[in-house]
Amino acid sequence: MTLDTTPPWDDVPNYIDGGWSAPSEEGRDVVDPATGETVSTVGFSSSSDVDDAVAAGEAAFEEWRRTPVEERIQPLFRLKALLEDHHDELAEVLVQEHGKTLGEAKGELRRGIENVEVACGIPSMMQAGHLPNAAPDIDETAVRKPLGVFAAVTPFNFPGMIPLWFLPYAVATGNSFILKPSEQDPVVAERLFELLDEAGFPDGVVQLVNGGVDTVNTLLDHDGIEGVSFVGSTPVARTIYERAAASGKRAQAQGGAKNHIVVAESADLEFAARKTISSAFACGGERCLANDVVVVDESVYEEFTDRVVAEAESQVVGYGLDDDTDIGALISPEHEERVREMVATGVDEGAELLLDGRDVAVEAYPDGNFLGPTVFGDVDPEMTIAREEIFGPVLGLLPVSGIDEAIEVLNRSDFGNAASLFTASGADARKARHEADVGNLGVNAGTAAPMAFFHFGGWKDSFFGDLHAQGDDMIRFYTDETVYIERWPDA
Ligand code: NAD
Repeated sequence: MTLDTTPPWDDVPNYIDGGWSAPSEEGRDVVDPATGETVSTVGFSSSSDVDDAVAAGEAAFEEWRRTPVEERIQPLFRLKALLEDHHDELAEVLVQEHGKTLGEAKGELRRGIENVEVACGIPSMMQAGHLPNAAPDIDETAVRKPLGVFAAVTPFNFPGMIPLWFLPYAVATGNSFILKPSEQDPVVAERLFELLDEAGFPDGVVQLVNGGVDTVNTLLDHDGIEGVSFVGSTPVARTIYERAAASGKRAQAQGGAKNHIVVAESADLEFAARKTISSAFACGGERCLANDVVVVDESVYEEFTDRVVAEAESQVVGYGLDDDTDIGALISPEHEERVREMVATGVDEGAELLLDGRDVAVEAYPDGNFLGPTVFGDVDPEMTIAREEIFGPVLGLLPVSGIDEAIEVLNRSDFGNAASLFTASGADARKARHEADVGNLGVNAGTAAPMAFFHFGGWKDSFFGDLHAQGDDMIRFYTDETVYIERWPDA
C-alpha cells in the first residue's frame, strides 16, 4: 500500500462503520500554508452523519468489549508497523497541509507512534487491584471496564500526533472511538485512517468524522457518547468541558498556553540560547509547549540577549519540504495577521524590538503565510506579549533579579502548561520543582514534553478536567472500576 503524498487530493471523506463516505454538508478548502494552493476540500458532518457513527460505535462496542485484550491489541501492533512503514509519506502530507518542516513532521509522528507502543501494554496497564482478606473472610478485587463510545476533537498544530494521544488507549481498553480532526489540516488524519483500516479493527471500533463547530456540538450533546477528549484553544476548551459535563459526559480539555524559560545566573548561556530558539520557534511557534517568555537573570541578561538574537538571525524561513528550512509557514493568513498584530502590540506597549521578522520574504513562495523570527527585549510581565498566547515565531526577554522573582513571574501567568529552567544549581532546580505551577517542567531541557508513558497536561487555564492525555491517566479516563467484595463461607 502506498499513501498518496502528491496534492491536489480528493475531498476528505469520513470513515464510518468500516467504510468511506462523504460528509453531508459543505465544508471548506484545505490550503497549503506555504504555497497558498488548495490541496483538498473537507466536507462537514451533519447530525445524521454523527448519529450513524455513534450507532456504529455502539454496535461495535458490544463485541469489542468482550474481545480478549490480547486480541484487541493485535491491530495496534499492526498499526505500529504500518506507521513505521509509512512514516515518511505521512510526514510529507503533513507538511503540505500544515506548513511545518519535514523534520518537525517526522518528529511529531514519532511521538504519536510512541503512544501506540505504550497502548500495546494495556494487558498490564489495565489491571487494577486485588487484596485477599481485606476484611474477615473477604477478598476485594477492582476490575476496570470499558464504557462505550468516546470522541476526541483535535487542533491543527499536531494533526498527526494528537489523535494518537487518545485513539490507541481508547480502543485497547475496549471502547470504540470517533475522531473529529481540525478542519484546517484533516488530510493526515485521513491517511492515518487508511492505515487503521489496513490494521484490521472491526467495523465501527475506530471512526473518522470531519466537521467544524456544529459537528463538535452534536458530538458533545449526543447521548450515545460516554466521554470527550479535547485539545485546542482555552476559550473553546472551557466551553467544551462545560458542555460535555452538562450532558453527563467524562471530559478532559487541554487548552492554550504561555510558557516560560528561566535562565539563571549559573546557566550555560550558549546551550540555553540554542535551546531557547528551538523551543520558541520550532513549528513556527505554533506549539502549546513553545516557551516564548524568557525570564533572564539580570546579571547575564545582556550576554544572553546577544546570543539569542544571533541564534534567531541564523534561522532560515521557508517551505517545509526544503532541506534548509528552520521555520515553516503559519497555518493561515488570518493567523499570520493575528501574530503580526501581537508584534505591533508589543511595540506599542513599549517592549524593545530587537529583531523584527515582519519583513521576511520567501521569494519562491510569495503566497505563503511567512513571518520571520522576532525577538523583543525589556518585556514587562504585564505586557500583552508576556501574558497572551502568540502562537508564532515571536519571543520576549524579560530581566529579573534571582530565581525567586523568576518563579514569581512565571506563576503569575493564567496558564500553566510548561516551563524550562536553565541552571547549574541544584538548589534552583529544586526550588522550581517545588514552586513552579506548571504541568511540565524542564531542567536544562528546552521543551518539556513528556514521553508517552507519562501523562501530559497543564494546569490553570491550560487544562480543564483531572485525567490528562497519554499514559496511565488515559486508562483511567477510558475505564471505570467495579470493586468485587467476595465472601465464600465454608459449606
Ligand atoms: P481551536 O480551539 O480553534 O480548535 C480545536 C478544535 O476545536 C478543532 O477541531 C475545531 O474544529 C474545534 N472548534 C473550534 N472552535 C470551536 C467551538 N467554538 N466549538 C466547538 N469546537 C470548536 O484550536 P486550534 O487553533 O486548532 O489549535 C491551537 C490551540 O490549541 C492553541 O491554543 C494551542 O495552545 C492549543 N493546544 C494545546 C495543547 C495542549 O496540550 N494543551 C496541545 C496542542 C494545541
